[in-house]
Amino acid sequence: MSLRKLTLFELKDKFTKGEVSAAEIVKAYFQRITVVESKVKAYITPAKKDALLKEADDLDYKLRGWRKIAPLMAMPIAVKDNICTEGVKTTCGSRMLENFVPSYDATVVSRLREQGYFLIGKTNLDEFAMGSSTENSAFGPTRNPWNLACIPGGSSGGSAAAVAADLCAAALGSDTGGSIRQPAACCGVVGLKPTYGRVSRYGLVAFASSLDQIGPITKDVRDAALMLQLIAGHDPLDSTSADVPVPDYQKALKFTMRGMKVGVPLEFFAEGLDPEVELAVRTAIIKMQELKAEIREISLPMTTYAVATYYLIATAEASSNLARYDGVKYGYRAAKEKGLLETYMKTRQEGFGPEVKRRIMLGTYALSAGYYDAYYGKAQSVRTLIKRDFDEAFKDVDMIVTPTMPTPAFKLGEKVQDPLQMYLSDIYTISVNLAGVPAIVLPCGFSSGKLPIGLQIIGRPFEEEKIIRAAYAYEQATDWHKKRPTL
Ligand code: GLN
Repeated sequence: MSLRKLTLFELKDKFTKGEVSAAEIVKAYFQRITVVESKVKAYITPAKKDALLKEADDLDYKLRGWRKIAPLMAMPIAVKDNICTEGVKTTCGSRMLENFVPSYDATVVSRLREQGYFLIGKTNLDEFAMGSSTENSAFGPTRNPWNLACIPGGSSGGSAAAVAADLCAAALGSDTGGSIRQPAACCGVVGLKPTYGRVSRYGLVAFASSLDQIGPITKDVRDAALMLQLIAGHDPLDSTSADVPVPDYQKALKFTMRGMKVGVPLEFFAEGLDPEVELAVRTAIIKMQELKAEIREISLPMTTYAVATYYLIATAEASSNLARYDGVKYGYRAAKEKGLLETYMKTRQEGFGPEVKRRIMLGTYALSAGYYDAYYGKAQSVRTLIKRDFDEAFKDVDMIVTPTMPTPAFKLGEKVQDPLQMYLSDIYTISVNLAGVPAIVLPCGFSSGKLPIGLQIIGRPFEEEKIIRAAYAYEQATDWHKKRPTL
């Protein structure tokens, strides 16, 4: 079997046993990049071939004779381009940071580096992670490997497409309202959004700080468990990272769901859900029952307010976070302006794309005197109620199973003129971020148009183990994860 098709775990196994060299791995991936990247456009900055080959040769040389292998040695992993990589451009899909080269690594990146990974490229995203289709990137859209006329989802569309198209062995994404899970669903791969605080956000370019979280996008559940293992845990550099022990996630990989109570929320199967998506998810729930899970109907009544609440809180935080891009400290600066204010205004006008501007305006409005209580304050109260819905549900069940996106991937261009329709793509993922809980997405079927459909499993805070276990049991009992796009 060709190397690029292997899961991270399989590839790592081959490398550890000495069956394949680092140079062979790097060559196989660059060959793939040469053949399909021009169609998919998953990367903003792919790694430099010669430099990476040199790194691989050096590693192979060093390992001659004795093989003391770190878990990710020689593994080609892609990183979303809003996660800082020392010495490698980190653009956030924006003109504003087009030439920004960080002087330090994000904590997740330094952890992968300690494990010996190879950075195979920085992946495309919606500008500053704002979007659901990767069409808001200043560098052009990424395409869905299953159908090049369709979106790969967003905002981590580049990462999900790169994994699905075998352009990397695994990837990192970020998720503020669904940006790991929704693209994973669109591209038929696995995406895991950890509990808020589980993974350090140090070095992740901030969008909405009370919601942002970094997580893996992988070919299967075992790989997701491995990646989470390596990036999770307390980080003194991020005060919101939790000092909670990280369990051994590989131990969670079991073939049954015996003893697990699974909730199915009524509100997630209402109007607007595509019948093919509903059928695939309901069929998956029946499979879980066969795997000995106990299924219960539950209610999350506040779900209807999730999108509205998110678009007040996320935009308010974004308007404050993005105030730093003023053309002075770093990033883009408008040319030849007179005076400070004019420089600020021109820089922001030219540096940001339309969606980012829309959100800054919305957020600034929601935070302004006279409107703060009516909008931002209200949204915070509703957020508490949404969280309470989950707390209540989790008294009865261990996890909650839902669709990931109301429809399969839509056509490029279909929703760009209609932001509200675009925002509704995240209706099933957003409440998870508002509540701060973890969720994993994995493939559970295909539409009649041959596009993947994703199943979402939501867990209690810091109980990633349980959702990993459920996802693994389901995955191993089906073969959706074995299906790959032909490119
Ligand atoms: N699609 C959502 C948005 O546009 C979520 C983005 C994300 O999770 N980064 O805000």
